[in-house]
Formats: sequence, structure tokens, C-alpha cells
Amino acid sequence: RVPALKDASLLVSQAYVAGEWTDASGGKTIPVTDPFDGALIAHVPDLGAEDARRAIDTAHAVQKEWAKRTAKERSRILKAWYDLIIENADDLALILTTEQGKPLAEAKGEVISNAAYIEWFAEEAKRIDGDIIPGANAGQRILVLKQPVGVCAAITPWNFPNGMITRKVGPALAAGCTMVLKPAAQTPLSALALAVLAERAGVPKGAFSVITTSEAKPIGEEFCRNPKVAKITFTGSTNVGRWLMREAGDSIKRLSLELGGNAPFIVFDDADLDAAVEGATASKFRNAGQTCVCANRIYVQESVAEAFAEKLAAKATSLRLGRGTEEGVTMGPLIDDRAVAKMEDHLQDALSKGGRVLVGGKRSDLGGTFFEPTVMTGITQSMKVTKEETFAPLAPIITFKDEEDVIAMANDTEFGLASYFYAKDMARVWRVAEALESGMVGVNTPALANEMAPFGGIKQSGLGREGSKYGIEGFLEIKYVCLAGM
Ligand code: ADP
Repeated sequence: RVPALKDASLLVSQAYVAGEWTDASGGKTIPVTDPFDGALIAHVPDLGAEDARRAIDTAHAVQKEWAKRTAKERSRILKAWYDLIIENADDLALILTTEQGKPLAEAKGEVISNAAYIEWFAEEAKRIDGDIIPGANAGQRILVLKQPVGVCAAITPWNFPNGMITRKVGPALAAGCTMVLKPAAQTPLSALALAVLAERAGVPKGAFSVITTSEAKPIGEEFCRNPKVAKITFTGSTNVGRWLMREAGDSIKRLSLELGGNAPFIVFDDADLDAAVEGATASKFRNAGQTCVCANRIYVQESVAEAFAEKLAAKATSLRLGRGTEEGVTMGPLIDDRAVAKMEDHLQDALSKGGRVLVGGKRSDLGGTFFEPTVMTGITQSMKVTKEETFAPLAPIITFKDEEDVIAMANDTEFGLASYFYAKDMARVWRVAEALESGMVGVNTPALANEMAPFGGIKQSGLGREGSKYGIEGFLEIKYVCLAGM
């Protein structure tokens, strides 16, 4: 199934290694399929560690020259890349939906809102300011310089095949770093299309490579062990994040990790209930529940719990499942059978411990990996749905008595990416926002990510921040120069 693009050259079946479009030696390929029905879209090269090494060598060779360019030049190239992404947003969205399954409008939203990270960091490139500090001794000054960390390696997941790349490559190139990217095997086409546009925008050959592969581990090992790689930036599961941290530990590489979440979504009795229902629907069912910041556990205060559950159930049943490219479709399939199996496991576990299905609770008649949006009540803290990230359209509702109670339950997790709560009382808003253990808190909103805000987690949800003025810091080292003899 080849998507009907306005610019067919954006659908590429070669990888972009060290500035050259290449096949795998031996011609090995990976099929890329449409999760709607498993139809074949394209083949991409199945590369190995030696290809990653070649990309790293070139990234290392060109990095100094890239960093030497003026901030304004780097900024101009990034701005050109941003413009090309926006011009081609329809095609990029179509490629994304075809390989990932999310509704086209969501895909286009992903492309545009994440291209904004490139635009933002194109601007920030010009504001990598240093500092001058008075000397500690007579005749001295302390100069603080910020310099690029060097070659960066990025590993990205399939749930945001476009956006997870632009928010990593944007700040890296802006800072004067170069980057070798390994996208998820399920969704390499979005990454390659971005590389086509990067090349067109004037990103120098070798400053950005895309390594497509079916075997992540050897590439991960190369990234972690190659002394030319200074930093690894990863978005994905906490388990892989742990492994990368251990592997990269030997050479003390810089790390940014955006890992799993287990976001609590809390509705207090003073909340605007309809707004809370809207928010929970967007948070839970966007991308069929396959986002790291999506509501995993929904806590509702006793007096409003029944009304909330009914309204959420009505919303869930109003979602239209189908092929992402079809007009009016609001939820696509899950990415694969493994994702469906996890949803079913969490559902069964909850049922066996006293949970009840209000709506959904089964695979959709559409077949494949479609699952009906599901709302459950009678949920407790001992169930998998509250302990683990479900990553599927399952909304489990837990009732609570008071604020202290719900904060203790919300924080009872090793994760700390996002939290959400709906309330009006200002004192409560402050108290709860400060008490929740997560890197991001949405108060009366489910929408947290944008290029101007620092996105990231605490606890075992990760290290570092993406976006905002803080987002470039992970790609910079501080050098202090002691200037004496004045
Ligand atoms: P998911 O379960 O969502 O696929 P993963 O953390 O397994 O989450 O995958 C996220 C990204 O990490 C993907 O690009 C995947 O290929 C990659 N990945 C998985 N295992 C490794 C590994 N050992 N080394 C490097 N990358 C890996």
C-alpha cells in the first residue's frame, strides 16, 4: 500500500548513512506494514552495527566543522528544514498514518506541533550564551563557555514516529552537535522522509544519519560503546532505558531518557466535570492510548465518580474506529499483537480482582489489532492497570475520599512522567501541583507537550528535558576558563 503523496520522493526505501542513500550490504531488508490490515507499504534496509559505526565516524568527522559555523548559519538551515516540513506536512502525515495507524488529523498535528521544536531550537541556537563571573582572586575572571557535546546518538519509538525525531535532532544540530538516529523498526518511513527534507534544507552530509534495522541491540551496543559517541538520547520503555544507562555507563556518556509513565488523572469534586471528561478522553484515547504521557489511572472523588464514569463511557462509545486515512475516524488500531495482548492481560487481571467493564472490554469487530475503547470501574491499587503502563485504550476508574488519600495513591509508583488533575480551588491547585511526584503536571488540561515547555520525567521516567530553553542544555557542555594575569 503506497500512500498517494504529492511528492513521491518523500517515500524512501534506502537508509541515509554518512550522507549517502544506501542499501544494506547483502541487500537485507525489513518490510514496513500498515497496522490497519498488515498490508505491505515498503521495504527498508536492515542495517547492522558496521553501518552505525560508519555513520558515527562521519558524524564525528563533520561535527567540528558544523559547530564552527555561526549560530546564525545553523539557525538558517534549521529554519529551512522547518519550512520544508510544514510545506510537506500533508505527505508526512500520510506516511505517518500509513505506517503507524493513527488518524490522519492526529498525524498532521504531530508533524506540525513537533516541527515547532526545530523552529524553536533554530531560534535558541543564537542564544547559547556564556557567562562572565568575577574572579575569585585578584587579576582573574571566570569565563563560562557552552560548547556542543559532540556526536549524539538517538533511538526513537514507533508511537510518535515523526515528532520524537524532530524534538531530538532540532536541539542537537542547533547546539552544533551531529546525530545518528535509529528509528523504530515499525515506523522507519517517517524518519527517512525527515532525512530527505533535512538534506534538502542544507544539513551537511553526515551531520544526520538514519540507520534502519530490525535488530536494535547491536546498534544500541555500538552507540553505547563507540568512544566517538558523546551522548545518547532515547525515548522508549523504562527497561530499554535501564539497559542503555548500564551499557553507556562504562564510558560515562551523557544521557537523556524519556521513559515510561503511569500518569494519574485526578478529578476533584470541585472540578468542571465536562471539562474533566473531555480532558480524560483526549488524554486516554489519543493515539489509541499509546502515548507515554497518557492517563493510565483515573482517580475520581466519590461524590462525582458515578456521573464522571457515565460521561466518560458515553465519550468512549462515540469514538469512531477505523483506518486512519478515512474521514471522521478518531481512533486507529493498536500497533501490533503484543500491544493487544498487554491490554487483554490488564483487563483480565482487573476483572479477576473485582473490576467491572462499563463499556468496551473486547476486541473490535474491525478485527486485526483494533480494540474497543474501554472504561472500567471498581478498580483498586492492587491491579496491573494501576501499577503498570497499559499503553492501550483502557480507562480504569478508581474512586477516592480526600486529597491526602489520592496524592498517596498517585505517587505510589516508580514512574514520574506526567500527572493531571481537575480542580478549581486555588489553594488546592497549588498544594496538589506541588505534591504530585512527576516532571509535568497538567492542571485542568490534558495537553502538556509543546516546544516552549520542558518535557520530561522524574523518578524512573527519565533524565533530562526536551523543549524550552532547558532543552538545549543536554546537548551542551559547560567549559570554565580561568583568565588570570590581568
Ligand atoms: P516499545 O515496547 O514501545 O517498542 P522499546 O523501548 O522496546 O519500546 O523501543 C523503543 C526504541 O528502542 C525502538 O527504536 C527500539 O528498536 C529500541 N530498542 C529496543 N531495544 C533496544 C536495545 N537493546 N538497544 C537499542 N535500542 C533498542
